[in-house]
Amino acid sequence: MIQLSDVQQLDQGDPLAQYRAQFNIPAGTIYLDGNSLGVLPKTTPQRLHQVIHQQWGEDLISSWNTHQWIDMPLTVGAKIAKVIGANAEQVVCCDSISVNLFKALAAAIRIQQRADSGRTQIISTADNFPTDLYMVQGLQELLGQHQCELVLVSEAELEHSINSATAAVLVTEVNFRSGRRLNLQQLTQHAHDQGALVIADLAHSAGAVPLAITAWEIDFAVGCTYKYLNGGPGAPAFIYVAAPHLKAVQQPLQGWMGHARPFAFEANYEAAEGIQAYLSGTPSILALAAVDSALDIFADVDMKQVHAKAIALADLFDDLLEQFQLHTHFARLTPHAPEVRGSQLSYSHPDAYAICQALIARGVIADFRAPSYLRLGFTPLYLSFEDIWNAVEQLAEVLQQEEHLDPKWLAQRGKVT
Ligand SMILES: *Cc1c(COP(=O)(O)O)cnc(C)c1O
Repeated sequence: MIQLSDVQQLDQGDPLAQYRAQFNIPAGTIYLDGNSLGVLPKTTPQRLHQVIHQQWGEDLISSWNTHQWIDMPLTVGAKIAKVIGANAEQVVCCDSISVNLFKALAAAIRIQQRADSGRTQIISTADNFPTDLYMVQGLQELLGQHQCELVLVSEAELEHSINSATAAVLVTEVNFRSGRRLNLQQLTQHAHDQGALVIADLAHSAGAVPLAITAWEIDFAVGCTYKYLNGGPGAPAFIYVAAPHLKAVQQPLQGWMGHARPFAFEANYEAAEGIQAYLSGTPSILALAAVDSALDIFADVDMKQVHAKAIALADLFDDLLEQFQLHTHFARLTPHAPEVRGSQLSYSHPDAYAICQALIARGVIADFRAPSYLRLGFTPLYLSFEDIWNAVEQLAEVLQQEEHLDPKWLAQRGKVT
């Protein structure tokens, strides 16, 4: 039997407990949705205020130089690099995951074409995040199936489906529905042995799990900053490119910000050296400032510690479900072993949407993913063990009082779930 006092003791011994004070947590809220939109860091409003009023308001266009606006995609990229275990000069913060995937996919196809490998297939998983698959489908329509062909398999089949036709494996490390984590290092080793490249989507990994992107020899990686990195709604994404590829090929979205000399305004494109060539247009400085401020929190965070606490929070949640005898209502989708998990738990329930809404009405913010999944994100920098106790207590009350059966939840379904 787990007692509340046991849970409070876990908080007292928690080496990450001090970080909570750096975030704005609305009163009466237990936020289990940091895997979708991270909370607001307390320093961010002040930073944006300064960038808006002083840099934009007073210093105006000179700020591109005096406040180093022009370098922000690279300086913020270098901070992200530290969190994902990558070389600082190989990450740039820009655009969305979707757009960055297009650059990576097209570059990977070009690498295979240059090598005359005859490899044209992009292998991915059928339950990958849809935008990843849509980007391949778009490239396939543009280039024709003889140059780029999407092949979909299950996660279990992925490794063994790589063969002499595979140009690249497009893999999301942590599945957005199930929370299952694949072994990126092993997969990359295997793909390389087979002559294929790896494009990794780190949307649910960056800021959640320890990574060593450069050491694992990942070819291309993309990820977002608005989930576990707390960069704000619609914050710019990032892209990482392995050093040899930076020299070998260009990405096709050639914009002036990726030119070797943008302010020479030359008629012909000449790619900048290094990761800067993965920039296309003018960066959003306000958005980058928010990401920059959020990343300062990660400067001295040990990602192994972060992930260990996420696993402990999630395990406590699952154990309490059982203790409150709620587990029979839910089918757990997330695997059990810690090494194959990210930082979320997903459970299927026929009324998952209504349960989620009833929880939100009680101040416990989780999310719902079609068709029937209740998703809970465990963000160790601002969640306590006691939060988990309280969240399960609320869930028990929702179910005991059958609040989820109220038809009003289905009547007010929003565009975003
Ligand atoms: C959230 C998420 C995205 C989002 O892509 P954007 O283009 O940045 O909107 C992409 N892939 C995965 C796996 C995600 O979880």
